[in-house]
Amino acid sequence: MRKTSPRPLMEGRQLKRRALLRGGAALFALGGPLSGCMQTAPKRGAKLIAATTGMVADAVRVALGRDAAEAEAEGKAFELSALMGAGVDPHSYRETRADVATLLKADAVFWNGLFLEAQLEPLLLKLAKDKTVVALGEATPTAKRRAHDDYAGRYDPHVWMDPSLWRYAVRAAADAITKLAPERASRVKANTAAYLDELSALDAYAKRVLASVSSTRRVLITAHDAFGYFGAAYGYEVVGIQGVSTESEAGLARIRSLVDLIVSRGVGAVFVESSVSRRNVDALLEGARARGAKVAVGAELFSDAMGAPGTYEGTYLGMIDHNVTSITRALGGEAPARGRLGKLGEKS
Ligand SMILES: [Zn+2]
Repeated sequence: MRKTSPRPLMEGRQLKRRALLRGGAALFALGGPLSGCMQTAPKRGAKLIAATTGMVADAVRVALGRDAAEAEAEGKAFELSALMGAGVDPHSYRETRADVATLLKADAVFWNGLFLEAQLEPLLLKLAKDKTVVALGEATPTAKRRAHDDYAGRYDPHVWMDPSLWRYAVRAAADAITKLAPERASRVKANTAAYLDELSALDAYAKRVLASVSSTRRVLITAHDAFGYFGAAYGYEVVGIQGVSTESEAGLARIRSLVDLIVSRGVGAVFVESSVSRRNVDALLEGARARGAKVAVGAELFSDAMGAPGTYEGTYLGMIDHNVTSITRALGGEAPARGRLGKLGEKS
């Protein structure tokens, strides 16, 4: 099996530059991005909340309230800043100077944990000695976590890929926000209950449409191994070209064995991911086509980052709807082109 060997720290400089170019710190007001306001200066008296990934920020936003009128009222109490924007890879992300300033100023910090934000972990653990720091992914009960060969003694961090597991993260965010602002407890409770219903509906949709793919075609080949929980939830065999972290390299032998898999199983589609370079997927396609396979890119999936802010895919519900709908259709199943709510490709 492939092993993950952490990159030496010095190589981080290049990754940091890439992360800055591709997203950097994005400051969001509740319910949407705050354009033109990239500095972290909370309104007077507002509590500043920092989140690492978009999915984590989304779960916090659920507790705070989504609808516009409420968001405006709540905005006076809270400002939410997500460090990683669309297309940013959390496995390799290193904090910028602006991130450190945000994290130091923040009243509370939310992250996924389970070693997803591998480079940020030392800083976040240090901050946890002085302030509320909550790892939402680690709210997943141990018995429901997946072990992985790449991570000896650790768990697969991609728990958001199964909406029935993401409930734990949403509840953990609600609990933490309630502790920070006990006077909002009833509103947080109502927001969270309504959202958990949405998660159930999303999960039911995913089960229904993904089951329309014939069982022999339920093979999901992606750029890295982010879909383990998805596969377990919906009965798909999942194969990542890279391992459970994008910091493990895919060797030629790995590409060759996946070409064999595509050829022998007649796999018709493989998937790129918005936060991972498509170089390995292209090498795989080239190798498979050279052996006569008819295989194409099925879609670009949102694995470790959501879509652009202000779009439906830029929300957790939208990213999963996009993934489920695209995978189903690319593998020959039946799902509405615009997804569960007819909102794919729309501004949110
Ligand atoms: Zn990942």
